Amino acid sequence: MMVISREYHFSSAHQLDGHPKCGRMHGHNYKVVVEIELIGELKRGGMVLDFQELDKFVKPIVEILDHRYIVSQDNTDFQPSRFDFLHAAELAYIDIQYSTAECLAKWFYDQIEGSFKWEKKQKPTYRVKAVTIWETEKSSASYSRSSGTEVSGTETPGYSVEPVLHS
Ligand SMILES: [Zn+2]
Repeated sequence: MMVISREYHFSSAHQLDGHPKCGRMHGHNYKVVVEIELIGELKRGGMVLDFQELDKFVKPIVEILDHRYIVSQDNTDFQPSRFDFLHAAELAYIDIQYSTAECLAKWFYDQIEGSFKWEKKQKPTYRVKAVTIWETEKSSASYSRSSGTEVSGTETPGYSVEPVLHS
């Protein structure tokens, strides 16, 4: 199996409602490791996927979160008005139940995989193998195709969050 990987970084604030320590707003300098695996034979000039091309997929996703407060469903279930003191541009509303490394790993996985838009007649030549989110130097969570692990927190159907807009 041929696999490439690349690191990305972002800094975000978050809190896990109900958690004795992480329930207080705080931030992390996150590291994201994206692994892409080859499907079939190595072509494309000897590359699974050009790293510059991978950046075009991943960087806009990183940008959604970078230097923002991650608003997850557990934050909005109780009191959306709590974000009134923040400008809308400072918030990242994403469709995850908890802003844990686990849920973020699956969110990244789905976002990147979803950005690989293959035409019906064009066979995929690569796919996301795994995404690992490092929350601290010691703590990480991975979501991968082979693990098949579902993060139940992201499976809530039909959930949408109305952004709190401030002008
Ligand atoms: Zn945290």
